[in-house]
Amino acid sequence: MASRCLWVFDLDDTLHAATPHIFPSISRQMTAYLREYLGLGEIEANALRQRYWLRYGATLQGLIRHHGIDPEHFLYHTHQFDNLRGMLVYEPRLRSVLSRLPGEKIIYSNAPVSYIDEVLQLIGIRACFDAVIGIEETGFRPKPQLFGYYYLLKRFHVPACQCVMVEDSLDNLRAARRVGMKTVWIHGPPLMGMPADLRLNSVCDLPRYVNRLLGDRI
Ligand SMILES: [Mg+2]
Repeated sequence: MASRCLWVFDLDDTLHAATPHIFPSISRQMTAYLREYLGLGEIEANALRQRYWLRYGATLQGLIRHHGIDPEHFLYHTHQFDNLRGMLVYEPRLRSVLSRLPGEKIIYSNAPVSYIDEVLQLIGIRACFDAVIGIEETGFRPKPQLFGYYYLLKRFHVPACQCVMVEDSLDNLRAARRVGMKTVWIHGPPLMGMPADLRLNSVCDLPRYVNRLLGDRI
């Protein structure tokens, strides 16, 4: 008998390309924030932002741990966009592709939920998802920390083997594998010893591999 399947989608650089316009803007805003609130120069602020991002998966995590920064204040002031719609790069067929995938779909992102919702609305795919999990909901613990992965399994009452995580970050996929989820790596170049069940250039290729990923769970 078919059983449940939960698709766990990352947002940035998975469902849309954040690297061309949105990530550079967020990076500039974070650097400006560190200059203003930590009193750093441009070079030191930029270096600190990158160091925490590499070490913790999110700059915010380093700021909470080492500087006592208020996470909501930081997230608000680093996700301001004059024209978010104009910065989005995505495939127009995304909505029809997502609606063809069987099972429940959620977003699980290290971004704040207000930003996630706005991006999903602008792309026109908010209705494709049963839930949106932002960084606030895991107590500001970003992927690849395992806390959020176990939180998802508990909240959605689903075993890890019935989850498929779709992501561009290898660190986040490795963590998904450790908890027992299936994994799909988006945008990555082929690697030896690939730490994912499947590698695709685009989420839009997913429907072709549903049988391979879900087997009898459809
Ligand atoms: Mg991503």
